[in-house]
Amino acid sequence: MLESTCRAVFTRFAAINPYPKTELLYTSNFELLIAVMLSAQATDKSVNLATRELFRLAPTPEAMLTLGVGGVESSIQRIGLYKTKARHVLATCEQLITLHHSTVPGDRDALEALPGVGRKTANVVLNTAFGLPVMAVDTHIFRVANRTGMGPGKNVKQVEQALMKIIPNEYLQHAHHWLILHGRYTCTARKPQCEACLIADLCQWLDKVIPVK
Ligand code: SF4
Repeated sequence: MLESTCRAVFTRFAAINPYPKTELLYTSNFELLIAVMLSAQATDKSVNLATRELFRLAPTPEAMLTLGVGGVESSIQRIGLYKTKARHVLATCEQLITLHHSTVPGDRDALEALPGVGRKTANVVLNTAFGLPVMAVDTHIFRVANRTGMGPGKNVKQVEQALMKIIPNEYLQHAHHWLILHGRYTCTARKPQCEACLIADLCQWLDKVIPVK
């Protein structure tokens, strides 16, 4: 995709949704970090259902430790991989308390050193909590980037690099959420809504289906 075409894509996204937001529910950077950790291979909806109870009981790292593994597991058991995630959440809370004064660090190395926090989670937190122009490539963004031709790549690292290179600076901060929302509601995996797609004329996917006008 040409850079000018990419710019046109984001101009349209920005026009209809100037300030896109994550659909995860949270009230602090700590809650955001935990919600993103729990969202791996789970829907935002299922995470929100679980964290409503979890964050009521444990809105801080200290309170989370008090809940213990049994308490955390019982709040998040509707989420896949909940036993592993519960252990990671508690180990992360311990590190936040001992190394970061119970706050969420705003740099990549410190975030990625937390148990259960990989590059994608770190990028979401850096982008959503700290406003940094970074790109967390999840399954939706991977699909949209490849289909549209905006960020072709065989793995998330390649797609992340391609997107960071082509997306104009002024759109980078919100690009993550625009692309996720587009993938979640329009450019869906099984039945992309090409006929209703805002960027259909700019998309390079050969299999797109657009009615002739
Ligand atoms: S035209 Fe179809 S494939 Fe292309 S971005 Fe839109 S929904 Fe996705």
